[in-house]
Amino acid sequence: MTSFKQNFVCALKLTLLGALLTVLGGCAATLESAPPDVSSAQPLGVVPASELDWRKLPPPDHTLANFRPGETPDYCFDRATQPYTAVVDSHFHPKPFGGPAMDAQLLWDTFDRLGVRFVNYFGIGQVLELDANCSYYLDCPGVSAIPSIKNDFVNGLEKAAYDPDKIHITLSMTFIDLAHAERASETIALYDKEFPGMFTWSGELNMMKQALLGNNAEPASVESIAGWADFMEIFRERGVPVTIHSDLGNDAEPTKFLHLMDHALESYPDNKIVWAHMGLSKELTTMDAREHVRLMSERLDQYPHLYLDISWDVIYNAYHRWGEIFIPFFNQYSTRILPGSDFVAAASKTWENYAHELEVTSRALRVLDDEAFRNIALGQNYFELMDLPYEAPVLCTN
Ligand SMILES: [Zn+2]
Repeated sequence: MTSFKQNFVCALKLTLLGALLTVLGGCAATLESAPPDVSSAQPLGVVPASELDWRKLPPPDHTLANFRPGETPDYCFDRATQPYTAVVDSHFHPKPFGGPAMDAQLLWDTFDRLGVRFVNYFGIGQVLELDANCSYYLDCPGVSAIPSIKNDFVNGLEKAAYDPDKIHITLSMTFIDLAHAERASETIALYDKEFPGMFTWSGELNMMKQALLGNNAEPASVESIAGWADFMEIFRERGVPVTIHSDLGNDAEPTKFLHLMDHALESYPDNKIVWAHMGLSKELTTMDAREHVRLMSERLDQYPHLYLDISWDVIYNAYHRWGEIFIPFFNQYSTRILPGSDFVAAASKTWENYAHELEVTSRALRVLDDEAFRNIALGQNYFELMDLPYEAPVLCTN
């Protein structure tokens, strides 16, 4: 059944059965991330997918000033009247793989109107060959996608013109080729010269991205991870987090590539490493979510500097029963989770497209407990990870 039909049928069942949703199995999963057994601070009820729509979200009432400690002491964030979408987008790509991008001013206005106050500007680590005239790698197999400084420099120049009173942008170094990183520190020196102090994050770097293999991307190996030593030392000294995309595996072999991330974590346990998409991908959609959560928990327990990013609508779309398993996990590890959209701002996209993806990737946040909501959705983790002079606002006690 297509997901549209499935959604429609599920919505119908929901309308008819109302409170019996919790026993509907797959339908509950498609439509609703609220699990029946979440011990949430507030009764969240059951909401059909038709209600979960960015167009129905209230306008945000905050500005950056509300995140600066002491500046607005009377402000509190009211979950009952404010959108549940994240104020942080820790995984955002302002430029496409190739071709034209969305207008920068339009992007900033979009963040402002949707209440996204903190954004990581990730380059596309793999710009497609410039003469290929292709904006998405899957549309042009065979065209090489190789890590490069191009996107980062454009992002660096663009950031200089934004309004720092409305949005806080973090620039990210995305040029590093994890299969051949021995000389990355030389390029970091170039960034230091051209953009002093401006690039304070790194990633998204691809260790193993199966979807890119058709574009001549070379995955890292256990051997090449040893070659990260120089740049990882610089990042550790500077406290620079690095977001790594590393597929856990695929449907045939769900943990096929786990050894790569394990080796990176063992090799660089003192570096802040953010595992993009929790290792999930389009290639891995049938894994037992409980097993997935068990693997993630083990590693979070073992490596205190490991974080997970829950960006990309693939995660929401693929895991039909994800709420029941993932929400308690997010609540439990709420200091280790970062929200993000993984939006790629090609010129063909509109601000409404971003609003939609932000809402979909924020659905889990809607049903988090209050502490987890403040840590994840309101940015407290992000501020602490980056040592930024911001603080998540307190929640209103109605
Ligand atoms: Zn991404």
